[in-house]
Amino acid sequence: MKINVNRDACISCGACEAIAEDIFELDDEGISVAKVKETNDNEEMELAREASTSCPTGAIEVSED
Ligand code: SF4
Repeated sequence: MKINVNRDACISCGACEAIAEDIFELDDEGISVAKVKETNDNEEMELAREASTSCPTGAIEVSED
């Protein structure tokens, strides 16, 4: 799975970091960044999917490739 944050769409709500702090963090500007950009770990993939569906602006893109 590839994980990407569309930083232009992020509104700094913090939900992704709250759900998956090992994968997402808010940077100095308060914009989310994916610390993990690619993973095959089942737990990480589940958390990334949950963050993606929870993001209010749809800024988190996950690809199942
Ligand atoms: S959940 Fe979405 S809008 Fe909120 S901080 Fe994360 S990427 Fe940004």
